[in-house]
Amino acid sequence: MSNTKKVKVTKNGKCSVSINCFSCQTRYELCGFSSKQNDDLYYRDITGKKIQDIIPEVDKGWREMFISGICPECWNKMFG
Ligand SMILES: [Zn+2]
Repeated sequence: MSNTKKVKVTKNGKCSVSINCFSCQTRYELCGFSSKQNDDLYYRDITGKKIQDIIPEVDKGWREMFISGICPECWNKMFG
């Protein structure tokens, strides 16, 4: 369970989102989302909201992880 990396996104919010990398199985926690952002992320499949509209302040590599399930490190190994 030491396979967790915390990624600080913003200091404003209090919610965090856990996400597992599909490739390396590392569990990441993205902290600092507002409850609104958290809800939007959670219900994204239902609402169809775009990830860049929900968390525009997050780096593209991390937003990509929500879409592809692949962390930036693995992404760079595969496509970088
Ligand atoms: Zn990975």
